[in-house]
Amino acid sequence: MASDATQQVAGVYHRRVGEITVTALNDGHQDVALSTVHGIPTEEAAAMLHAAFRPVPRRTTVNAFLLRSGGRVALVDTGCGPARPTVGRVAANLAAAGVAAEAVDTVLMTHLHPDHWGGLLDADGRPRFSRAELKLHAEEHAYWHDDAAMMRLQDPATRQVFFVEARKRLAAYAGRMSLFTAGDVFPGVTAVPLPGHTPGHTGFLVASGRDSLLIWGDIVHVQELQVPRPEVVMAVDVDPARAAETRRRLFDRVAADRQAVAGMHLHFPALAHLARDGAGYRLVPDAWSLDLAGDAPRE
Ligand SMILES: [Zn+2]
Repeated sequence: MASDATQQVAGVYHRRVGEITVTALNDGHQDVALSTVHGIPTEEAAAMLHAAFRPVPRRTTVNAFLLRSGGRVALVDTGCGPARPTVGRVAANLAAAGVAAEAVDTVLMTHLHPDHWGGLLDADGRPRFSRAELKLHAEEHAYWHDDAAMMRLQDPATRQVFFVEARKRLAAYAGRMSLFTAGDVFPGVTAVPLPGHTPGHTGFLVASGRDSLLIWGDIVHVQELQVPRPEVVMAVDVDPARAAETRRRLFDRVAADRQAVAGMHLHFPALAHLARDGAGYRLVPDAWSLDLAGDAPRE
């Protein structure tokens, strides 16, 4: 008799973009109270999740993405960090993908929230990516080092989690950190500023040959709510109105362009297209493909 299953196989999924290999690495999920969802009555949000057969409170998937391009290796975001019950699996999934942490030469950050920088340090507080250069948007670096912004938060514990801990992570990479505002950040990868969720929140457009994939960071946290209703915002949005406006503008563009997208909080493997649907949109997740080229429609 076969022994029973106790855990999933590795959360690793590859998709080629021209000559570049993108690998989605799952970190796990976080269940967060619906009170963190704004711009929609709580009962309505609960009803939408119920209709989508999703748990309430809202469940947010966490992912990072590995890029292999021209002999170089980049990791986009790092997940929540050392393993806890439902998160912190990026390091294990990176190993399962056959990539050593030392092989990562660049870490690209979409923004500086704990579910993105958590994996920069290992459980002993040492930089996990000992050879990597850390790259982030200049405004993101400035915001999380702004004492006035920090003091606008009333709760000292919140200041600690968001500001003090972020500074600690960056300090561990001092001397091998660089700031960008837009443009090329890695072979075949362009930084696309998408401000609102945080001031320096950034997407990364991966392009090679005629194929491309936009890693849109935290444009969506709860796909069942924010895809049909782009005006739905999160309590952690630094500028909620701007976050919603950026989301609307980006949705409009990726739907019109049939642009393939990937998201830190889309359900794994977190690759999809976006289609217009009435006043809102509809997410069309990629189907599992044995072929690394994926099943995205080609012209
Ligand atoms: Zn996030």
